Amino acid sequence: MKQNRRKAFHVKRLMALRYTASAQGRCAIEVRPMTASESFDVIVIGGGHAGCEAAAASARLGANTAMVTHRFSTTGAMSCNPAIGGLGKGHLVREVDALDGLMGRVADASGIQFRMLNRRKGPAVRGPRAQADRKLYAAAMQAAIRETANLGVVEGEADQLIITGGRVIGVRLADGRQFLAGAVVITTGTFLRGLIHLGEKSWPAGRVGEAPALGLSASFEHAGFALGRLKTGTPPRLDGATIDWSAVEMQPGDDPPEPFSVMTDRITTPQIQCGITRTTPATHEVIRANVHRSPMYSGQIKSTGPRYCPSIEDKIVRFGDRDGHQIFLEPEGLDDSTVYPNGISTSLPEEVQLAVLASIPGLERVKMVRPGYAIEYDHVDPRELDPTLQTKRLAGLFLAGQINGTTGYEEAAGQGIVAGLNAALAASGADPIVFDRADGYLGVMIDDLVTRGITEPYRMFTSRAEYRLTLRADNADQRLTAKGIALGCVGPARARRHASKMVALEAAKTLARSLAITPNEAARHGLVLNRDGNRRSAFELLAYPEVEWPMLLRIWPELSAIDPGIAVHLEIDAKYDVYLKRQAADVDAFRRDEGLVLSGIDYAAVPGLSNEARAKLRAHQPRTVGQAGRIDGMTPAALGILAAHLRREARRENRKATA
Ligand code: FAD
Repeated sequence: MKQNRRKAFHVKRLMALRYTASAQGRCAIEVRPMTASESFDVIVIGGGHAGCEAAAASARLGANTAMVTHRFSTTGAMSCNPAIGGLGKGHLVREVDALDGLMGRVADASGIQFRMLNRRKGPAVRGPRAQADRKLYAAAMQAAIRETANLGVVEGEADQLIITGGRVIGVRLADGRQFLAGAVVITTGTFLRGLIHLGEKSWPAGRVGEAPALGLSASFEHAGFALGRLKTGTPPRLDGATIDWSAVEMQPGDDPPEPFSVMTDRITTPQIQCGITRTTPATHEVIRANVHRSPMYSGQIKSTGPRYCPSIEDKIVRFGDRDGHQIFLEPEGLDDSTVYPNGISTSLPEEVQLAVLASIPGLERVKMVRPGYAIEYDHVDPRELDPTLQTKRLAGLFLAGQINGTTGYEEAAGQGIVAGLNAALAASGADPIVFDRADGYLGVMIDDLVTRGITEPYRMFTSRAEYRLTLRADNADQRLTAKGIALGCVGPARARRHASKMVALEAAKTLARSLAITPNEAARHGLVLNRDGNRRSAFELLAYPEVEWPMLLRIWPELSAIDPGIAVHLEIDAKYDVYLKRQAADVDAFRRDEGLVLSGIDYAAVPGLSNEARAKLRAHQPRTVGQAGRIDGMTPAALGILAAHLRREARRENRKATA
């Protein structure tokens, strides 16, 4: 299959842009003169977190891919906090990694503090997180893009979509160049008609110091897309040398740090500590006295921001009774004294920001390197997309990242990989790949977006997933890597490593199931079991909360042949075994409904549906009965009618085929 796809791409391939390293080690781009007829299999617009994953995924499938971005030097830039992962987000990073994506490996190469969040809670809700050295992260991402075969970069601003016959066939750049493609992925982040706010001032920008993208919004509007407007914000940056570190609590990372990627054996970047401080009643006073000058409250900003990542003025207005709000002081790099104060995102005027900082322990004499600000930008209503992230309105056009109303690097990367894979598949005429809610958080996020749309910037949480026990961060590779191998997006090194891990895990399970003990024998090892005479295997014993791996090693020394890394997976599988079996039944029921495909149905011709249900189905165009069930207000009765209609239609088709 992969070979056929390569052949299909090869026929279309016309040119490739290549990088050469200059004497300074910086990247120079060789761009050969182009004519209007020059083309790629896939063009990805944007070199942010979605764009990098989309471009690399498309190229891994063998598609001749171009990444069009303003400046290669900003590729992999972290617009806000220098950190990857966290609760729910860490799951996405592991899933991107399982499909051989870049984010996990890049974070491992640049992480300066790794912490497993929720370590004391169950494995299903643990979230790997790493604070990154901002410069190392961007450099590692740029190196990864440079090293990806079939991938070239064009520096420039995409200004207009080239559309013909309801299909996007390329892009025109602001400087007049144009490129044709089998599929186009747009990942422009906060740049579409971006408008920065800082106190009473506002100016057009995509990010601080970077111009907004104006033309693409007009292209979307012209094609009839529903656009919305959202807002996000960032805190001021501080000079770490002017912080009184003795006045703040210090927090180390995990020792040893746990990498994101299964391809990283160990973290070699030096690790640092972060500081923790709090706002004070004096801080709250300053904010209350000036809140009318915040564009959020003066009426200057009309769009909605992320509820789960509120600005400090928002926190004071909404949770004013609290005596303080925690602030993490996160160094931005090993050789950079800039500190990111996580928790005080703000767009208050600069002088108010200074007064706020001066009221916080440890920051009394801090120098502000750059003020915080808020940004408003256009996004496309994600209900315009199908689950492959292709737009329903224009074939060949895929959208990923913040443009779809999400917030966060990880959410962007997750959509990027799915859009990039599907763009390459579409360009070669192959079947698409859909990740569903039981496959992973990738599926949960995309289904949430395309089915329900958004009313505020969407971020991932473990609570969004119904099958949390199955979709753990620790088993992302077990869930997805085989899929990626079948698809052709996983390289040989990872495929080999995955195969040997799965063999080792199976062998470990077989061994743990083959060793058994009676309650009397267990008692001799200090393990009290119900004296029912039943023999229990090592695997069954591991399910008991009080039984841990070292105890089993004492009973059965032969288990020490199992690699400690494999034993961790074995223990989690054993502890969750009963629940996983129950969840498997739920997943089967879910997949039955997901298997009932609704495409091409004339809802007017389905008897028994209410007018309201018909209107909702026409407006949302769900792909399956399962997806229809997740549309607000769809009744079980309507779903039953749809399922019965599909069964009737299938019988009719069968009769026709056998007649
Ligand atoms: P980006 O990372 O923004 O990348 C967009 C890319 O597209 C850039 O490379 C840009 O150069 C390129 N581009 C844009 N337009 C064009 C064009 N027309 N032609 C060519 N190239 C183009 N997330 C959080 O989770 N928490 C936060 O608190 C938070 N705060 C933020 C604060 C600010 C001020 C900003 C700007 C972002 C913040 N984010 C936050 C969001 C986070 O940065 C994004 O979610 C994430 O970067 C989105 O990734 P992306 O790939 O969609 O877009």
